[in-house]
Amino acid sequence: MKKILIANRGEIAIRIIRACHELKLKTVAVYAKEDEYGVHRFKADEAYLIGAGEKPIAAYLDIDEIIRVALMTGADAVHPGYGFLAENEEFARRCEQAGITFIGPTVQQLHLFGDKVAAKQVALQAGLHTIPGTTEPVTSLEEVAQLGREFGYPIMLKAALGGGGRGMRIVHSEDELSANYQRAKSEAKQAFGSDEMYVEKYLDHPKHIEVQILADQHGNLMHLFERDCSVQRRHQKVIEFAPSITLSAKRRAEICNAAVKLMQSVNYQNAGTVEFLVTDSDFYFIEVNPRVQVEHTVTEMITDIDIVQTQIKIADGQNLYTEIGLPRQDQLTMHGSAIQCRITTEDPENDFLPDTGKIETYRSPGGFGVRLDGGNAYAGATVTPFFDSLLVKACVQARTFEDAVKKMRRVLSEFQIRGVKTNIGFMTKVLNHPTFYTGQAHTTFIDDTKELFI
Ligand code: ADP
Repeated sequence: MKKILIANRGEIAIRIIRACHELKLKTVAVYAKEDEYGVHRFKADEAYLIGAGEKPIAAYLDIDEIIRVALMTGADAVHPGYGFLAENEEFARRCEQAGITFIGPTVQQLHLFGDKVAAKQVALQAGLHTIPGTTEPVTSLEEVAQLGREFGYPIMLKAALGGGGRGMRIVHSEDELSANYQRAKSEAKQAFGSDEMYVEKYLDHPKHIEVQILADQHGNLMHLFERDCSVQRRHQKVIEFAPSITLSAKRRAEICNAAVKLMQSVNYQNAGTVEFLVTDSDFYFIEVNPRVQVEHTVTEMITDIDIVQTQIKIADGQNLYTEIGLPRQDQLTMHGSAIQCRITTEDPENDFLPDTGKIETYRSPGGFGVRLDGGNAYAGATVTPFFDSLLVKACVQARTFEDAVKKMRRVLSEFQIRGVKTNIGFMTKVLNHPTFYTGQAHTTFIDDTKELFI
């Protein structure tokens, strides 16, 4: 491999370009017209405008255009990042057909994990626990009503092809069911192109714990421990940290081993994450994300393993241990505690609506144990409404979780951003809340904690 096309934008495109440059690989960027000043474009060795005349997001979803640029520039491989085409099996297939390596799992694995109902079935076969619910898509309102009576309310309606915290609805009683079922189906159809739904018991106050997996093409598969992503707003992650500070060593081992078992059962390749909801008594598989995740950073900081570089080397056919040089599972250790805050231009005072406009002032934090992954935030930059509202990922690492929290408070206080609203003040309130800094936050912590909003 000599040259890689990055089929993405923003911070993750820059993250991948940095990995490539450390590996002495050439990089090709693609960019939409609205990203004319996007920093990923200037960081890459070559950059090409794609999707002229299309809607901005459509450019990064234009498989024909991206393959055309890859072939034209002689790229050996494509890294899809996260979002856009990262989990699109058609894209992976088209890359393969064009003789370009897709840096990710196989087409079959993307197909399997794209369907959350199918993924649950595979998890059950591998001996994992799943949340009580249907193992087949539901076909009628009456069937859902029957399930509600069986499991007891609340229940959750979920879109089979859903993602990004969207396509989910909590139903508290049978009276609410009919309207919610119809609405959930039409929303799913609109957002994911399929109205296939499944039903789960709604778990009360679980934690979201996920396990990072790396696997090569030679049958070697390992985990890099867990991340706690319980701090969410409306089912979307806000703050992530590694390791969990409340899991016992025994429970950690059980969860990590379950993730390994599932991924081994499908001969998984490349990087992936197995997500669980954890209660006091058990842990339940929810889904696999067959790609690099936004929060891979915190795992890198406690293991010293560069996940993006490893993805590239795996796709190039290298062996995890003998060529890439990773420690064997039983030799792998973690050190300290790492936390990530997703700094966005969401305005907490306006129902977290993304703000746009020119950044007048931008001063970023630094110092020992601090990592910033961003790129498009600088004085003079314009935040457009076209893409997601992530401005920069602020990460810290310290010896203990307590020290990491202190460092993150300091980091947030050093940001000076004027011209656009951000969620930094809100993040500080979360960090200062005892539920957070004692590691007790559950998935509904933010939504349930009124004092964070005053
Ligand atoms: P997505 O793919 O959209 O991220 P997930 O299935 O991973 O959806 O779920 C995202 C979040 O939604 C979880 O972390 C959790 O907070 C919440 N969630 C999902 N399923 C349930 C459930 N059955 N009970 C309680 N919360 C749930």
